[in-house]
Amino acid sequence: MKLSQRIRNVRASSTVAFNTKATELKRSGVDVIAMTAGEPDFQPPEHVMEAAREAIRLGMTKYTPSEGSFELREAICAKHERENGWTATPDRVLVGTGGKQVLYEAFQAIVDPGDEVIVIAPYWVSYPAQIEVAGGTVVPVRTRAEDGFVPDPADVADAFGPRTKAIVLNSPSNPTGAVYPPEVVRAIAETARRHGVWLISDDLYEHLVYDATFTPVQPLYPEGTLTVHGASKGYALTGWRIGWGVGPKDLITAMNRLQSQITTGANALAQHATVAALNDVERTEAFFAETRAAYRERRDLLVAGLNRLGLASPTPEGAFYAMADLTPIDADETTAALRLLEDAHVASVPGTDFAAPGFARFSYATSTENVEEALRRIERFLG
Ligand code: GLU
Repeated sequence: MKLSQRIRNVRASSTVAFNTKATELKRSGVDVIAMTAGEPDFQPPEHVMEAAREAIRLGMTKYTPSEGSFELREAICAKHERENGWTATPDRVLVGTGGKQVLYEAFQAIVDPGDEVIVIAPYWVSYPAQIEVAGGTVVPVRTRAEDGFVPDPADVADAFGPRTKAIVLNSPSNPTGAVYPPEVVRAIAETARRHGVWLISDDLYEHLVYDATFTPVQPLYPEGTLTVHGASKGYALTGWRIGWGVGPKDLITAMNRLQSQITTGANALAQHATVAALNDVERTEAFFAETRAAYRERRDLLVAGLNRLGLASPTPEGAFYAMADLTPIDADETTAALRLLEDAHVASVPGTDFAAPGFARFSYATSTENVEEALRRIERFLG
């Protein structure tokens, strides 16, 4: 019996696959340092854990509305108003099972077969996969390591064509850690507006910015922007799978129609805990400050170490990833990353599916000791 052509065209996520490979090696007794998945090694703040326990005590065992509990959608609106200076109402918010599901639904709602979506490369592996499942084609806009992987807005404008339906913006970027300056964000929003296309802004890494400022896109182009955010990265809640989208009401309603046929809605306990994460501003801010300081220290250590070892790595201003040029190990990035994994027991994700040939992505969402030990191992391997 045959599987559908559509599903046969889907590649497995390489971030997930390489992380699974590292986990399996560890389980089989190999002492691997996993710098694969972007998953905080911190536990979320205690008040968030307590809210999850409270949700159980309160007997929150039932479905929430498909679009998410009203409480959480209100807390999301309050967060964006407080931190990002723009207002939304709960009917413009959709809560989903992680940012990934929200993005999937957005591409399903926006893209028709043959449509083009502009994506700035290197990009997160799941954008092209999701766009292609919807029948769309990715039009990549190349950036250069020498420019810190920040796009030239003129290149973005040049990528527009008659079939362009949307553009994806992701700053801070996974996998490069690039944080786009306000003038770049403004120019891209202006181009999207001029062409009347959707702008999908993946803001998952907003709270992980070190030497730059996060620029929200939503207020620049409210009629065409879908802001995608979630609890996974900044709030260290990856496994609880809470993401959200805020955008024009017709888009949100369409995405929710699809969601109501897929999951019915996100997990009720995790939604309740996310309300605490968003509303207890003081404790959550303290958590951001503490984790950001730790990530910054690890970033500085990792990037300095990789450059010292001859694996050129531009300093990322945000997220918790560093890209390193592995061509001194092998011209093919997958071969190079596999050699680092097998011989040095340091796991990274090769740049192939990020559209970053020659590079691999190292996540420093791991302890400082692990970063130090990884560098020692790479040095021994190269030496
Ligand atoms: N977003 C994380 C990463 O890029 C987790 C895995 C995934 O969803 O791709 O590593």
